[in-house]
Amino acid sequence: MILVIGTGVAGLSCALAAVRAGAEVTVATPGALSGPDGTDARAGGSTALAQGGVAAAVGPGDAPAQHLADTVAAGAGLVDPEAAGLLAAAGARIVRRLLAEGFAADRRPDGRVALGLEAAHGRHRIVHAGGDRTGAVLHAFLADAVRAQAAAGRILLLEERAATALITDAGVVVGAELRRRDGGVEARRAEATVLATGGYAGLYPRSSNPVSSRGAGIVLAARAGALVADLEFVQFHPTVLHGTGALISEAVRGAGAVLLDGSGSRFMADRHPLAELAPRDVVSRETGRLLRERGEEAIWLDATRIERAEGAGTLAGRFPGISAATAAHGYDWTREAVPVSPAAHYTMGGVASDLEGRTSVPGLFAAGEAASTGVHGANRLASNSLLEGLVFGERAGRAAAGFASGGRRVAGRWNPRGAGFRALEKGAGVAAVSGGAAPAGAVEEVPSVTGLRAASREDAALVAMIRVAALERTESRGAHQRFDHPDPDPAQAQRRAYRFALPAVRDPEAELESEPHSAATGQLRSLSSC
Ligand SMILES: Cc1cc2nc3c(=O)[nH]c(=O)nc-3n(C[C@H](O)[C@H](O)[C@H](O)COP(=O)(O)OP(=O)(O)OC[C@H]3O[C@@H](n4cnc5c(N)ncnc54)[C@H](O)[C@@H]3O)c2cc1C
Repeated sequence: MILVIGTGVAGLSCALAAVRAGAEVTVATPGALSGPDGTDARAGGSTALAQGGVAAAVGPGDAPAQHLADTVAAGAGLVDPEAAGLLAAAGARIVRRLLAEGFAADRRPDGRVALGLEAAHGRHRIVHAGGDRTGAVLHAFLADAVRAQAAAGRILLLEERAATALITDAGVVVGAELRRRDGGVEARRAEATVLATGGYAGLYPRSSNPVSSRGAGIVLAARAGALVADLEFVQFHPTVLHGTGALISEAVRGAGAVLLDGSGSRFMADRHPLAELAPRDVVSRETGRLLRERGEEAIWLDATRIERAEGAGTLAGRFPGISAATAAHGYDWTREAVPVSPAAHYTMGGVASDLEGRTSVPGLFAAGEAASTGVHGANRLASNSLLEGLVFGERAGRAAAGFASGGRRVAGRWNPRGAGFRALEKGAGVAAVSGGAAPAGAVEEVPSVTGLRAASREDAALVAMIRVAALERTESRGAHQRFDHPDPDPAQAQRRAYRFALPAVRDPEAELESEPHSAATGQLRSLSSC
């Protein structure tokens, strides 16, 4: 049996692929996938909130090689080309298949799929649906398929269940403990367990993510001894409606909206040749710089010019979700610029995984935002993450099915593949997350660390891990920016993995304490827990 934990795009894709491969599948989700009103927010994760779309090289004249090149360019030197090549090539195939199966992408009057433009993409290649409701449409499409398999008895759907621990036996993950809504805990044993629990941008006070995005799966994996990688790379989206978590998709800038400073002047044109469509990290960084210089809190997104150029009703027609969200907060974005500021949005770090989702612990797989394959490097290219969930969710499902059919016999031969993963495993550091204070002032120098908030012991463990990774990377690269090390350091142009020394047991009183080790990545210190 395969246990899939999480029901965003990665978990649903994984479950469906595992069923297609002939496996018996159980899916656990904290929400309800099959309630009378369809999916609830706890089951939909970030997926159901996604707006802009799915990047895929399916348009005329486009090619996976071009999509790969854009992905590599955005990733600031750390993209694993094998992973990104697979994302682009397999992604285009999967998106074509979904379209053939009836995924209701928006279409042009001539019937061809309408393709949007987003930051740092060399061409229009964003497949979208429901205007700006791509995630909800995609989630409903995949959830319908999972519900159909559940009705046919091929998937056991466990709703209102949150994973609280992985079960291990002689170093092999053999299932998970799931907490029910009534507080009871049940053990589910499985030949293969897949973490598809999403990212951790919800740990930040300003975030576009749902509350479920707290990296729960990453903490579970770390407790089971798995390598985690790239936690320091947290992408901030430049245009979140100020004072709210409501995202205003890059697709709006792709359609012609511009960013204005407090005096009403465009500022990105002077700072990057692609102006408002520069890579996301560049726009967020320049916005942050401007706000610091001016002592202001928000810049302004002016979409009124889209409405003026293309006619009344254009914004409501193309971006119905964003139109509703801005109106709900008292703005009429057809007539006025709206205040926006950067907020944590996507996390590149996660459980170190190979291209089949295998982690460093036998029996444990990870996919989607919970995983770190190197596919996004130091900075994810817009709209590549729904695609990541489709591609790597499916691959993890197939691989888990293969592993499950071999059972424990093959655990001894567990051998994650892929150049990027092998390099990570070789260079992994071992870090403790308590037993000392962070160097004075250091935390303030790493903007992505300062706002982190821990609401629970699990959060505290992850916050501590992020701090270790962020403080150890003494350079600025992609989404990771430090005031005290403002430039990239060529000597640090590699991904990093850590095996964090966290208590393996579910002991709420346990200290986050362990022996610090030095390691190949060098000079790991014991930093503070939070
Ligand atoms: C507002 C917004 C807009 C976005 N727009 C786009 C876009 O246009 N294009 C794009 O490519 N990407 C976009 N993204 C990013 C993208 O949506 C996510 O990266 C992607 O959906 C992640 O999918 P996932 O399946 O890995 O995780 P999620 O969709 O977050 O799903 C995680 C699942 O795990 C469950 N879970 C969490 N903890 C536990 C636990 N302990 N036990 C059991 N289950 C658990 C959650 O409830 C959820 O079901 C956007 C993100 C946001 C927040």
